[in-house]
Order: sequence, then structure tokens, then C-alpha cells
Amino acid sequence: MRKKIVAGNWKMNTNLCEAVELAKGIRERLSEVPSNVKLIVAPPFTNIESVEEILSGTPVAVAAQNCADHDKGAYTGEISAKMIASCGCKYVILGHSERRTYYGETSAKIVEKMKLAFAAGLGVILCIGENLDERNAGKHFEVTRKEIEDVLFNFTAEDMANVTVAYEPIWAIGTGVTATSAQAEEIHAHVRKVIASEFGEKVADEMTILYGGSCKPSNAKELFSCPDIDGGLIGGAALKPDDFIAIAKSY
Ligand code: PEP
Repeated sequence: MRKKIVAGNWKMNTNLCEAVELAKGIRERLSEVPSNVKLIVAPPFTNIESVEEILSGTPVAVAAQNCADHDKGAYTGEISAKMIASCGCKYVILGHSERRTYYGETSAKIVEKMKLAFAAGLGVILCIGENLDERNAGKHFEVTRKEIEDVLFNFTAEDMANVTVAYEPIWAIGTGVTATSAQAEEIHAHVRKVIASEFGEKVADEMTILYGGSCKPSNAKELFSCPDIDGGLIGGAALKPDDFIAIAKSY
């Protein structure tokens, strides 16, 4: 049975007070979340410790939104995977399209970050997804395959137990335009096939694959009812406890 995950990516949206309020709001409503759904929240680095403290003793895991591609040393402004783990984080999001687009993050860099994340004991949520031009040109299967090959194929089948893939079509992120459940499902099934081709059916079967891109309470149920969609990576709607919990309740 695959893990069902609903993960909130808070991006660069919360100051300390706002993050504390949001974490408390989620904590207050945890009894509503089905026991088969794992919640993860990814606050900004500066909120991680406080959020971790508020959520300690609950089943909610804390993730970082990124980590450095070096272990330690003279890299001003960077935060290492080990530092993140030392604050209680269990996961790190890597390869988000905003990092690939605005910060020039390449697959080679993501591989380096992923090695360090595993060494620090972190699980990785790896984001992949095509942009609008690629979708319109019918290249979405090819693009997502290449993103997986370029990153995950550098690792072992055993490593895959610590990977969650998030399919996030870039044209759906923060736009209010959601992929239809059919569009999302066909890529999720494709991702699973690509994983199976390298690591075998069992690994592919056990891989949790999340959908991300304007997922909200009104569309989560339909998306999550698809056989290969194992939950969501949620941006905007993760900033309101009511919406985040309502999405988690869609299972
Ligand atoms: C995201 O950026 O990971 C995301 C899914 O954002 P949104 O839900 O706001 O589209």
C-alpha cells in the first residue's frame, strides 16, 4: 500500500508569527485528517525550528524547501542538508520549478543536493513537470521522462524508498489552472512506468507520486481518486489551515 501524502509548500510567504499561527491552525484540526494520510509542511528556513516545536509529538513532518549542493564551508547564505536535519526536518523539496527557473537549478545540481539529503537522512520530494510551451508541443511525456532519468537514474533502487515524486505542470502552479484529473493521471502513470523501467515494478508500485498545481479543496477529491495520484504538493491553499486540512480530508 503506497503512502498517501499531502504536503504544503509555504514558499517565501510566512514571517515567524504567521508561520506559528499556521502551524497551530493545522495542529488544532489534525483529528479531522484520515489516518492513512501523511501531512508534511515546508515552511521557510527561518520558521523551521518554531514550526517543528509546535508540531512535535504530532504525525506531521516538517520539510525544507531546498538545501545546498555542498556539505559545509564557505558558501555564504546557503543551508546544508545536515543543518536542516539537525532542526528536526525529515524531508527536503528539491527541483521545484521555481528553483529551476529563477535560480538556474540544473539536474546535475539536484543530483548533488539529493546525495547530501540522503546522507543527512532526509527524504526527498523531487518536483518535475513541463512548461506550457512543452505541453502545447506535446512534449510533456518526454520532458518528465528526461527529468526523472537525469536525476533519479543516478541513484539505486534502495534509494527510491526515500523519494517521493511531485508532478507539477508549471502552467498549473499558482495560476489557478489545474490539470484535469485525466491529464494528471496519464503523466503519473507514465512516471511510474519510467521508474519501473529502471528500478523494477515493485519500486514503481511503492513510489508515492504527488500532484501539484493549483490543487484546492474543490478539485482535490477528483484528482486524488485517480489510481496513480497519491496525494498533493500544495502551494497557495496550504497557507490556510482550513483549505489544507480540507484537501487532506479529500481522501
Ligand atoms: C507549488 O508551487 O508547489 C504549488 C503546487 O503551488 P500552487 O498550489 O499554488 O499552484
